[in-house]
Amino acid sequence: MYLAFVYRLTSEEVLDMFDVETVRADFPILGHTVYDRPLVYFDNAATTQKPRVVVEKIEHGYYNVNANIHRGVHFLSQAATEGHEEARRRVQRFLNARSASEIIFTRGTTEAINLVASSFTEAFMRPDDEVIVTAMEHHSNIVPWQMQIGRRGIGVKVVPVTGSGELCLEGYERLFSRRTKLVSVTHVSNVLGTVNPVREIIRMAHARNVPVLVDGAQAVPHMGVDVQELDADFYVFSGHKVYGPTGIGVLYGKEKWLDRIPPYQGGGEMIASVSFEETFFNELPFKFEAGTPDYIGSTALAEALGYIERIGMEAIAVYEGELLAYATERLLALGDVRIFGQAAQKSGVLSFLAGRIHPYDMGLLLDRLGVAVRTGHHCAQPLMKVLGVEGTVRASFSFYNTREEIDVFIAGVERARTMLE
Ligand code: PMP
Repeated sequence: MYLAFVYRLTSEEVLDMFDVETVRADFPILGHTVYDRPLVYFDNAATTQKPRVVVEKIEHGYYNVNANIHRGVHFLSQAATEGHEEARRRVQRFLNARSASEIIFTRGTTEAINLVASSFTEAFMRPDDEVIVTAMEHHSNIVPWQMQIGRRGIGVKVVPVTGSGELCLEGYERLFSRRTKLVSVTHVSNVLGTVNPVREIIRMAHARNVPVLVDGAQAVPHMGVDVQELDADFYVFSGHKVYGPTGIGVLYGKEKWLDRIPPYQGGGEMIASVSFEETFFNELPFKFEAGTPDYIGSTALAEALGYIERIGMEAIAVYEGELLAYATERLLALGDVRIFGQAAQKSGVLSFLAGRIHPYDMGLLLDRLGVAVRTGHHCAQPLMKVLGVEGTVRASFSFYNTREEIDVFIAGVERARTMLE
């Protein structure tokens, strides 16, 4: 797929080179049946399935390279350390970060945002200073900031969302004041699929000397991300949503910020020296990695990133875009369907309500047909309030999904309507 970049292939040519059946063979779970029906897994925004190479990397790590890292002089410890640090360099290349010390391994997006919310506010925010978030954030990019309202007396302002599910940039601009110290925004909405214009959002914040955190949990699996090109100050994502293991994620931060904010947790690894009189913290990135890190998870995450790079981020984006367009067209053709999120730039998330059917009932019925979708508020209750609903049904696609699976899903929605309406 690297050819696409060298020879500037068209979308059709990129698609021609993509073979979904070959890709599916890499994911054993996709061959499973549920209730005697082939599994149709459309819950990829919640978590993705794992290709064999990722599972094998975990197995290989525990069988062959398992020893605690960084402090050991012995062979195994050095091999495990090298694996972990090579994984960090791989993430650095994947995001095009300037330096590997700008890559911090965390438990996931949630922990990464909590880290910044705690350490950045401690270093740079005084009572009444403000953070700008948006109305389409996941709870994990709302609650950590709200907790700082109680702890440090900061304020949180909210960018409104338009009827088509896009951010209102004029509204965003109006929220800035002398007290604005940080903007925290999702790259892609997990409910609406909206791809936010983060480059523009960052440019507008930087014009006022305000740094920006980007929640990339739903972006990294679907599109190439270049943190230097975006000029993001912080960029976070979760391993499990990008075909890697659970329990590991990434915080990218510009060195100038990471150097100036205090550690989030104390313990081993994050110190240079400890005495009861005075303790000195370790250098980046270790200052933010207290305790034994998930050194097997990091190598498996790196394997996952390598896997999707081999498929090609462009091929993934084009193919998933086709799936979304097909599913949207077929769903709308049923009539009396509301789709939430009609942004011009969308990734493969389809949130909807069909007629008067409760999302939970739709989810249960689809499940009996082998189709896994998510129902409810999708950890975005403030957005549900804006949309005026309690919840939606969400089908979210991956490059391993097919048009035939969408046909099964549509037939299921139709069936639910004949049964429940
Ligand atoms: N942000 C967004 C946009 C998400 O979709 C999610 C997961 N649904 C999160 C943050 C939280 O990710 P995690 O639970 O892996 O920390």
